[in-house]
Amino acid sequence: MESVKVALRVRPLVKSEIDSGCRSCIERLPNEPQVSIGKNNLSYTFNYVFDENEGQGKVYNLAVKNLIENLFKGYNLTILAYGQTGSGKTYTMGTNYNGEGELGVIPRAVYDIFDIIESRKEDTTFGVTVSFLELYNESLYDLLTDKPREQSIVDMREMNNGICIPGLTELQVQNADNALAILKEGSSGRVVGATAMNAASSRSHAVFTINIKIMNKTNPKDVIASKFHLVDLAGSERSKKTGATGDRFKEGININKGLMVLGNVISQLCDGQHSFINYRDSKLTRLLQDSLGGNSVTLMIACVSPADYNQEESVSTLRYADRAKKIKNKPVVNQD
Ligand code: ADP
Repeated sequence: MESVKVALRVRPLVKSEIDSGCRSCIERLPNEPQVSIGKNNLSYTFNYVFDENEGQGKVYNLAVKNLIENLFKGYNLTILAYGQTGSGKTYTMGTNYNGEGELGVIPRAVYDIFDIIESRKEDTTFGVTVSFLELYNESLYDLLTDKPREQSIVDMREMNNGICIPGLTELQVQNADNALAILKEGSSGRVVGATAMNAASSRSHAVFTINIKIMNKTNPKDVIASKFHLVDLAGSERSKKTGATGDRFKEGININKGLMVLGNVISQLCDGQHSFINYRDSKLTRLLQDSLGGNSVTLMIACVSPADYNQEESVSTLRYADRAKKIKNKPVVNQD
């Protein structure tokens, strides 16, 4: 089993880009999950490429649906959306779920999980809890409580409990609608700051976690536990372009540190040469420590804007995503 997969999603040009005369600088190449960017035709190959014509259902059905079953075999699963602010991370993940429009990854995954549970209820007992937190400026905040408190991360793996956050709200859910109501409630409390890039840019990592416990009815000692982290990462743009100063500038530095450490960890996991992985260098990677590598499955969805105005940031996202995968880039196939 390949433990880290990378999907690229290129969103359509949005109205503001069209109005300001932007053109698309990213081209999907035929027959391979490969794109080229810019005039000098730099090309990148991923496990999946979704272009602007491919909707939420296709992204989910091809890249995510077949991973869900792993949770029922005891593997942890992590899906991360990476990209600059405005590139489509929240849209793709469905973190801002409100029951309208085309559903993103989180609600589709929640429905599939409960469909599987329903189909196995005869011989299996399930316990499902969800938590929802935000990592902002290297601090963790619980999104499911009225009084946001900073949380700490404790490593309980020696006691077989994995990475824990004592005091973090974990709500028991009986069905998909329960879980989605909690997602909706939690996302309304996210820290959102305005930068020159996007009036409502997300400056924090949002982590929605589904914990599943599976007990065999005929053999109650036979218990499987797994964790599913769905992560809408903070914008990857460099602070120079956002025009951020003061607190926002500090945020930019912290956000980029987390993303940089995450990129290092994933590429260390991918090349398989490292006996020591630097999880401890950021809160984000400490939090995900038992769910990246080892007995877990990871999908990174790299999101990019196709606009030429954003070419530099898109190249940086493609490079970041490229480091996170094992497969080598294929040379551009000559189409003449
Ligand atoms: P981010 O979370 O990366 O900051 P958003 O998910 O908020 O970006 O997307 C920015 C805008 O682009 C939103 O208005 C969103 O609805 C739109 N958008 C993003 N991806 C797509 C897509 N694949 N198809 C249509 N609209 C999209």
